[in-house]
Amino acid sequence: MTEPTVETSDDDLRRRALARTPGGVHSNVRLAGPKVFIDRAKGAWMWGVDGTDYVDYLLGQGPNFLGHAPDVVLSAVERACRRGMVYGGQHALEVEASELVCEALGWAEMVRFGVSGTESVQAALRLARAVTGRTKVIRFEGHYHGWLDNVLLGQRDDAWGVASAGQLPHHHDDFVLVPWNDPAAVEAAIGDDVAAVIMEPIMINAGVIEPAPGYLERVRELCDARGVVLIFDEVISGFRLGLAGAAGRYGVVPDLATYGKALAGGWPVSALAGRADLMAGFGTGEVNHSGTFNASVMTMAATVATIRSLRDDPPYARIADHGTALMTGIRELGARHGVALHVQGLPAAFHVSFGEQDATDHRSLRRLGLDRYTKFAEALVAHGVWVAGRGVWYVSASHGPAELDATLARFDQTLTDWL
Ligand code: PMP
Repeated sequence: MTEPTVETSDDDLRRRALARTPGGVHSNVRLAGPKVFIDRAKGAWMWGVDGTDYVDYLLGQGPNFLGHAPDVVLSAVERACRRGMVYGGQHALEVEASELVCEALGWAEMVRFGVSGTESVQAALRLARAVTGRTKVIRFEGHYHGWLDNVLLGQRDDAWGVASAGQLPHHHDDFVLVPWNDPAAVEAAIGDDVAAVIMEPIMINAGVIEPAPGYLERVRELCDARGVVLIFDEVISGFRLGLAGAAGRYGVVPDLATYGKALAGGWPVSALAGRADLMAGFGTGEVNHSGTFNASVMTMAATVATIRSLRDDPPYARIADHGTALMTGIRELGARHGVALHVQGLPAAFHVSFGEQDATDHRSLRRLGLDRYTKFAEALVAHGVWVAGRGVWYVSASHGPAELDATLARFDQTLTDWL
């Protein structure tokens, strides 16, 4: 067998990619991303095929929370996979991973694993509808829950609707969309026909906005009063804001929660965790949740190694130091260059914009001038800082003082060249 040829020219790879892949990318999210091919990545760094190095604050859209190719996870996965990859039967690692997830979260009693956040969200919605016998679901403007017909939303002018050609709009009929951080809006929408409220308990995907004090508590109360299942979509916040995610940070416990990304050190794993009485429906077979690759050996070895690492060598204080210094450094550079650069959020996940003040919901987020920032983000990437065009920055356990210095120097140079 011959080794696959690795092309080293960006242009050639792009030409070949465009010939065989629509748009040259395998996820539409990347259509708007940098037109650069990556050769390799380690820790907080990525290298393009042209040799350019990048300090990475996108983290593969979030999963590389321990840094790229973390040795502790790689070696565990390699060891485990030598014993087989997919059994179509149960194995000890999946039991251990389930125990570790429940112990880490503290409140959850049972877990079902999947391979993407999108599908764990679907499992949560189906389960909530099954246990309540109701259909309606309350959700929030600007919160992302995956790319499938019923949850994918786009905004044109001020109206929300389908985001994709071919998407069936009637799937949205059972959802009630309300603004984030507005308890009165939930109170007005919630009723005895509502199965679930689903939210990013801290808004991160579209821009980082914390819940206002008392907001999550009020939504919890409203759900309890009406027998509504509260679902936290912690696909981004889970394991990133601490072992117990946003539920731990804000002290409000959901009934069900979805996880992914930071859960498994870069491997494709998602989870639906929750109260045992609710999750029981999967166990009796009454509620279907299936998947060939769910809890495969590879993904469970990655999950066990990642959670053990987060538990036994917690990176959260280091991430807080780096993220805080970075947020401060960006603000200072903005002031020095006389440009209004606004930084909002937490050290592990924050949002940079050309706004003047914190956003409190998706409506105020839209006023922050995203188009201008998106162009600036392209310039940052060209200067060797790999960031998302929508303004969200993620910090990993591998970011340290050397990365901080390199990032701020490159940011400084970008502002000089850009202004
Ligand atoms: N929920 C949230 C909050 C997310 O941010 C994402 C992905 N960015 C998803 C669900 C979907 O996860 P996946 O891309 O793994 O399907």
